[in-house]
Order: sequence, then structure tokens, then C-alpha cells
Amino acid sequence: MRLVLVGPPGAGKGTQAVRIAERYGIPAISTGDIFRANVKGETELGKKAQEFMNAGLLVPDEVTNAMVRDRLAQDDVAPGFLLDGYPRNPGQAAELEAMLEDLEATLDVVLEITADLDEVTARLLKRAEIEGRADDTEDVIRERLKVYEESTAPVAAFYAEHGLLVKVDGMGAVDEVTDRIVTALDAR
Ligand code: ADP
Repeated sequence: MRLVLVGPPGAGKGTQAVRIAERYGIPAISTGDIFRANVKGETELGKKAQEFMNAGLLVPDEVTNAMVRDRLAQDDVAPGFLLDGYPRNPGQAAELEAMLEDLEATLDVVLEITADLDEVTARLLKRAEIEGRADDTEDVIRERLKVYEESTAPVAAFYAEHGLLVKVDGMGAVDEVTDRIVTALDAR
């Protein structure tokens, strides 16, 4: 199974990605996690990404696309993969198409986790207290939500046109959302 997860910041993508990946025996690849690990490790990639992340902006496409291309070339993606946080704009979606063509593979489903704006803002502010992520301040959250609406929402529309999009309501308890996702995926 090759799956892409989209949804606004705070919709619960990271939490659900781990659960879905485990259930279907595929690696969960989170571009946000990879960037954060590189920032922490002070690598070249981390240095390139950090200022954009802290401003709530997308890391430039040439940096992100190259990173994902490398990741998808690794052996563990043979049984499939779950991409969390990529593609995040139409250019990245086109680049992913090209990568998949080179791998002679296609996407099976794009799962959109939906949640209303008040709920995601509240969740991110709560996470800020617990995890202290540099991009979970109120101003940066607002910027990330704006970037989502402007850049990432069109990606969901693109996949909807191709008949790949499945929407799942991300409101409610974590387990309930997982059940909805599994039901929706198994129905395909
Ligand atoms: P969230 O979805 O909660 O905003 P992520 O952990 O997915 O957070 O991403 C955090 C940050 O990492 C983003 O705001 C962005 O700066 C960077 N990032 C992650 N994925 C991408 C991507 N596909 N393209 C560009 N930047 C990305």
C-alpha cells in the first residue's frame, strides 16, 4: 500500500500515521520529523530547513524534493509507504508523480484528515505547552494554517480529481479517528 496523508497542522496526522503504518506493515515517512531530526543534529539539511520551519513556511522545494527522493530509494519502502507531510504544494505533487514513475509505482490512496480551525488551533497551543516545538507559537501557527490553505489544500483537490482522495473526520478521540480511517481504507 502506498499512501499519502494530508490535513491541516494539528489534525492528528503524525499520531494516526504511526498507527496506520503499523497496521499495514509499511514505514511512516514524516518530512516534518526528518527535518526536526536534522535541525537537532545540526546537519547541513537542518541548517537549510530551520529558518523556514521556525517561520511556519515551507522549506524550499528543491531541498524537500531531494530529501524525499532519497528516502523513497531505500529498501524498506518496497512493500509500500505512508507519506506524512509530503506533498505540500502542487509542485511537490508533480515531483512525487515523477519519483513514482521512476520507481514504476503508483499511489493507492490519499487520506485527508479534516478538523475545524478552532479545534486545530487549540490542539497546537496545547502541544506547545507539552512539547515546546519552536513552530507552535500563536503567530507561527496562524502562518502554518495560512500556508496549508494556500498551498496544501490545492494538493487535496488535485488528488480528488484523480479519484484518489478519501476524507476522514479527525474530530473526536484518537481511537475513534483511527477506527474511521481503518474502515475507510479497508473499504477501498
Ligand atoms: P505540521 O503539519 O504540524 O505543521 P510538520 O511536522 O509536518 O508539521 O512540519 C513542520 C514544518 O516542516 C513545516 O512547517 C515546514 O517548515 C517543514 N516541512 C514539512 N514537510 C514539508 C514539505 N513537504 N515541504 C516543505 N516544508 C516542509
